[in-house]
Amino acid sequence: MPLRETAPKLPPEQYEQNFADITPPYNPRQAAIEAARCLYCFDAPCTIACPTRIDVPAFIKKISTRNLRGSARVILEANILGQSCGRVCPTEVLCEGACVMHEKGEPPIQIGRLQRYAVDYVLDRNIQLFHAGAPNGKRVACIGSGPASLACAAELARAGYAVTLFDKNEWPGGLNTYGIAAYKTRAQDSLREVELVRELGVTFCQKTEIPRDISFADLEKQFDAIFLGVGLGETWALDLPGEDLHGVYGAIEFIERTKSEPFPKVEVGRRVACIGAGNTAIDVVTAARRLAAETVYLVYRRGHREMPAFAYEYELAKKDGVAFLWQTQPVRVLGENGVVTGLECVRTELGPPDARGRRTPHPMPGTEFTLSVDMVVRAVGQKPITHFLRAIPGLALNPDGTVVVNESHQTGHPKYFAGGDCTNGGKEVVDAVAEGMAAARFLDSWLGASRACLT
Ligand SMILES: Cc1cc2nc3c(=O)[nH]c(=O)nc-3n(C[C@H](O)[C@H](O)[C@H](O)COP(=O)(O)OP(=O)(O)OC[C@H]3O[C@@H](n4cnc5c(N)ncnc54)[C@H](O)[C@@H]3O)c2cc1C
Ligand code: SF4
Repeated sequence: MPLRETAPKLPPEQYEQNFADITPPYNPRQAAIEAARCLYCFDAPCTIACPTRIDVPAFIKKISTRNLRGSARVILEANILGQSCGRVCPTEVLCEGACVMHEKGEPPIQIGRLQRYAVDYVLDRNIQLFHAGAPNGKRVACIGSGPASLACAAELARAGYAVTLFDKNEWPGGLNTYGIAAYKTRAQDSLREVELVRELGVTFCQKTEIPRDISFADLEKQFDAIFLGVGLGETWALDLPGEDLHGVYGAIEFIERTKSEPFPKVEVGRRVACIGAGNTAIDVVTAARRLAAETVYLVYRRGHREMPAFAYEYELAKKDGVAFLWQTQPVRVLGENGVVTGLECVRTELGPPDARGRRTPHPMPGTEFTLSVDMVVRAVGQKPITHFLRAIPGLALNPDGTVVVNESHQTGHPKYFAGGDCTNGGKEVVDAVAEGMAAARFLDSWLGASRACLT
């Protein structure tokens, strides 16, 4: 069924322009100039601020001496997804946010772009820096092939484990392939990086859903340990009347289409309302505008001071011409003949801060109004995946549905370890990588099989 009205179609090259890299790669001259600005701080606050503790001064120094292979080695040793992290990390609040240049009133060193420059050098030339360790006879399964599982698998393969990844999606990479805004990274960038893990001898079983296709009992028989890197599930529903109308999408579903289909084929309304104000909501509204939606509203029941999105993401959406409706709560989705035609909203006033310091919105009777829209996108967070994890004996879930792990990333069932979004509730790629790597090290010491043969 078509939407009531769709955004006008653009020439194909215009879509490519709209979704072009927001931080284009450096050329050698630009990289050399930027690397030369680094002060190589002894205490490296940038490294401390990086969840994977990449030795930032060391890799930048190697760029300045034109040792790009050595530079990439420093990065990938600490973070096998260094290429995508260089593109997608919220560097403003991580490494670059900690850069001492801020104290001097100068722009921070562009660590993310330099990181990408070094790793692209080895990826472009198919330089293989690491090899699988001598086989130690142990087998590990990873459920999911997102950043957490990829990092866990790479670390284990280098220590001699036979690792198999099972993922229900067609392509590996998790949200790195299917979720992150196309103007930050494309699916093919993520897939190229996955090859670094495959080259270590890791086996990928895509289109394999656990436990539908292989039971937990069978996995437990075939593998010595299992890593859960299943991420989070679909977008939460809002329980609004009219939410089942055609033209109401979950944010993940909409963004996934922008990553897996040619841009001209992605159906988008002429007028779009997105509910929510986190980073995912920003990805939705910017994607809708870049797909030529004429009017895009971001509807949020609190004020802009309370918005959970990073400040620079908000700036991006402002530049894209998104209309922000603060202190506005959706009441119902309106439709005709089963198709979205509008979103009824009510203005809110904010009460005093709650225990978490967030001001509670209260609808103000008599302030109802209707937005005429052709599409409504829910961007209010992802549901945890709980249904099948409950089938694992001993595995406990927190009240918010995330998997309970101890400081060694081990779950209540000793054979199962976990990390990434399914344990942290949804953070960044770099956090998933850090947790996947840490889980691999603890899993290795639990199995005691490593021959300390990293190559
Ligand atoms: C829209 C969006 C934009 C984002 N943008 C950024 C960004 O700009 N920068 C950033 O750093 N982070 C961003 N993130 C967050 C980042 O993508 C995640 O933190 C990261 O991907 C988490 O990795 P993960 O491996 O834990 O989970 P995921 O990447 O979600 O991977 C989980 C994998 O498990 C598979 N799986 C689940 N259940 C099963 C099953 N039963 N059987 C088999 N396979 C299964 C899934 O198919 C999936 O491939 C974004 C997230 C979203 C939703
Ligand atoms: S991985 Fe991310 S946070 Fe860490 S140094 Fe690289 S860009 Fe910065």
